[in-house]
Amino acid sequence: MELIDTHCHLTFDDLASDIDTVIERSIAAGVTGWVTVGTDPSENRKAVELTQRFENLYAAVAIHPHDAKTVTRDTIVELKNLAQSPKVVAIGETGLDYHYNHSLHEDQIRVFAQHLELAAELNLPVIVHCRKAFDETIQILDNCTGRIEKVVFHCFSGSAEQAKLVLDRGFYISFTGVVTFKNAEMTRCAAALVPLDKLMLETDCPYMSPEPMRKQKINEPALLIHTARFLADLRQMPLNDFTAAVTKTSETFFNLHT
Ligand SMILES: [Zn+2]
Ligand SMILES: [Zn+2]
Repeated sequence: MELIDTHCHLTFDDLASDIDTVIERSIAAGVTGWVTVGTDPSENRKAVELTQRFENLYAAVAIHPHDAKTVTRDTIVELKNLAQSPKVVAIGETGLDYHYNHSLHEDQIRVFAQHLELAAELNLPVIVHCRKAFDETIQILDNCTGRIEKVVFHCFSGSAEQAKLVLDRGFYISFTGVVTFKNAEMTRCAAALVPLDKLMLETDCPYMSPEPMRKQKINEPALLIHTARFLADLRQMPLNDFTAAVTKTSETFFNLHT
């Protein structure tokens, strides 16, 4: 079995300080590919650097909506340069976070649109972070119809109706360990209806370990297997068939030629 952790933050201190053993445990668990996601200029540089150390490690670069208020013209110019590194496979994570509101909505909207422009220009897929801003996020994406080839809603925690609106547009949906949590019934309904050619898996580590490992404070790619097993069971599919399908979807989404 081979899985790809399509959204992790391997450059964050908790994982970066021990990266060789984190990667070893991941491979031992059958999670043999990774997309590490940058969130600010320094993390983006670190992410691209780290891709040089591990063969199946790729990077996505962006400024997180939390930090939208810090983004200037120069930030976008630097991002554009970095995004053209050979192992950068997506622009992200970008989007809107109206839960924490670390940046003003108008700044988040402006920066999200700038990221989408960049993705269109460089012909890269987009990893969308959307929290308590579903309608606005869809509206902004609809303004780019036809110009952005591939979009994934990462860490999806919406309803079946929202999943349908995402799928109607040809977008992808990615699930974290949150789908295994007791109170995630609504997200499980959504997960049950996403076709496998639109479904991806991620840890979003170091955050939010899946059940039954939820007590493990620092999540890591090796734990992706628990989310995979959970969703295979939910869909009453053999684990190997499920993982083969979602790995193929991930390779297609990120244009990985493994
Ligand atoms: Zn996110
Ligand atoms: Zn993330």
